Amino acid sequence: MDTTPTPAGAHSAAAPTPAEHARTAPPAASARGLVQVYGTGEAAVHALRGVDVDFEAGRFTAIMGPSGSGKSTLMHCLAGLDTPTEGTVTLGDTVITGLDDAALTRVRRDRVGFVFQAFNLVPTLTAEQNILLPLELAGRTPDRAWLAEIVAALGLEDRLTHRPHELSGGQQQRVAVARALLTRPEVVFGDEPTGNLDSATGAEVLGLLRRATREMGQTVIMVTHDPVAAASADRVVLLADGRLAGELHAPTAERVATALAALSGREA
Ligand code: ADP
Repeated sequence: MDTTPTPAGAHSAAAPTPAEHARTAPPAASARGLVQVYGTGEAAVHALRGVDVDFEAGRFTAIMGPSGSGKSTLMHCLAGLDTPTEGTVTLGDTVITGLDDAALTRVRRDRVGFVFQAFNLVPTLTAEQNILLPLELAGRTPDRAWLAEIVAALGLEDRLTHRPHELSGGQQQRVAVARALLTRPEVVFGDEPTGNLDSATGAEVLGLLRRATREMGQTVIMVTHDPVAAASADRVVLLADGRLAGELHAPTAERVATALAALSGREA
């Protein structure tokens, strides 16, 4: 998968480790001067006030901040679900800001995956049909070996013929994770992916997203308000009032909660 040329004279015997790759590869996604204003005049809401941020390939990043700080807006702009008022978003080697609707639809379909709080499975389709749906919509042939690997990794082998109502919340979210991973997207975006799960099941889904970064080189960017969920990430990007307000590496739930409390203007 790694196509980075090895510089002359560099140690080239072994493939780079994921950590080495992350240091040398261009970011999977980045934002520059991102401004998002909803409405006009007195009713204008400045959701993003100039955000510059890079998301390394093959890593798991959580976006956190107080309610209304712009987390969802940032994620929606990064994923091509929303068009910023100013600034640019780059996904891989493509500047996606300024693309027309048809091109943005292709970006969302072919290059990113989504895991939402509400699972968003089609109730009349089986788990397997749900997992395959994005590929079918894109007219692409599924890689059966990859499907089998993902299904096994997510422990879904004996659930493939079940419909969503026959699955627990955690199983439904695992189906949604499998669906997101199957297309080998450049970025999987999670929007409060554990918001509807109890803490044990949520931890399991976070563990799967973490494994996807470690074992499959998947890039994951997740919005959450939960410090415990954010602690599963490699890095936490903090937003406050539409601006970057710091970041944490190798976060613990405690450090995230302290940082969040400080941003919310409360005593940590
Ligand atoms: P967060 O995800 O951190 O809670 P959001 O990105 O959802 O924050 O929202 C940031 C601000 O932008 C909030 O004040 C919110 O009310 C506002 N906002 C978000 N989306 C819209 C929209 N479509 N129209 C108007 N205001 C919006």
